[in-house]
Amino acid sequence: MGDERPIAPPIHLSTTFERDEAGEYSGGFNYSRDDNPNRRMLEQALAALEGGAEAAAFASGSAAAMTLFQALRPGDHVVVADDSYYSIRVMLDEVFVPWGLTVTFADCSDLAVLSGAMRPATRLVFIETPSNPLMRVTDIAGAAEIAHAAGALLACDNTLPTPVLQQPLALGADIVVQSTTKYISGHHDAMGGALITGRDDAFWQRIRAQQRLCGAIPSPFASWLTLRGLSSLVQRVRWQNESALEIARFLAQHPAVREVLHPGLPTHPAHALAAKQSTGSGGLFSFRIDGEAKDALGVAARLRLFRRATSFGGPDSLVEHRASVEGPNSTTPGDLLRLAIGLEDPSGLIADLERALTPVRATR
Ligand SMILES: *Cc1c(COP(=O)(O)O)cnc(C)c1O
Repeated sequence: MGDERPIAPPIHLSTTFERDEAGEYSGGFNYSRDDNPNRRMLEQALAALEGGAEAAAFASGSAAAMTLFQALRPGDHVVVADDSYYSIRVMLDEVFVPWGLTVTFADCSDLAVLSGAMRPATRLVFIETPSNPLMRVTDIAGAAEIAHAAGALLACDNTLPTPVLQQPLALGADIVVQSTTKYISGHHDAMGGALITGRDDAFWQRIRAQQRLCGAIPSPFASWLTLRGLSSLVQRVRWQNESALEIARFLAQHPAVREVLHPGLPTHPAHALAAKQSTGSGGLFSFRIDGEAKDALGVAARLRLFRRATSFGGPDSLVEHRASVEGPNSTTPGDLLRLAIGLEDPSGLIADLERALTPVRATR
């Protein structure tokens, strides 16, 4: 057994691997928390896609972010984009501030604000671009310059654009964060996350040690599903990116829509910067109804092709009223809906939106 030469890789469920007669692990694996063939295949593919030296895969995007912060030391200071992924901000407040990190949340899309937030103890700047649901754009090369001048690393959450549309390492970032739960696995059926590094250095070895010691790793099956999804990543993301832009243009001229937040539209304040550092923002964007929260909720309720659910990156288009999800402390406008464009034909999605928006126009 072992020479069957399958095209789709087998799933290696074994938690433990055998030593040879000399007592060595000549097969290259010893225990699946340390490393597993399915996880290693996924890590190598992710490193290649992001143009990195190495990647480490985790059980979720949140576990990847957790491991990044754990590789710092108590007393270190981090600057975190104030509109980065909501639950990463909560993780910092509830877990890592008590643990000993000092955190400054800042609007990193304004480089002067980022500069002003840097301190002598700053070890890491954490950005996400474009952010969501507000789709703010941060200058990756500019942020890298500021971080490096202060002796800090730049980490960039690249979940939205994926490496297909944006390559932060090539723009100067040191570490890329991915929630592979979204576009990379791409089918709403596998949780996962990854860190991808530009260099295999001492900090990366601390991340590897955290991965091994703390064990927030993906299962062999999740690794396999994610790698399977990855094989169609380029085609899916290109389709979803183009559909989203077409739908955004439709919404931008609709009388019941106040504003469309999409970096691909010339009306977006950072349209030129977005075009310079990426070839698209992916299938996720937001728009604001010309009305109130109840009107936005009414539109979401009338949509049929769009399902009312959180997340993005899968084949099914989703709609979400972010202010309700984020709760009473949310700063997201109540009239805002976030759309995650799936793999359906955009003409059907446009017809669905047109029908759901019509009563908003009629009641005004
Ligand atoms: C979903 C998401 C995360 C968290 O990933 P999980 O896999 O849900 O833990 C982090 N960053 C961004 C931008 C995300 O969309």
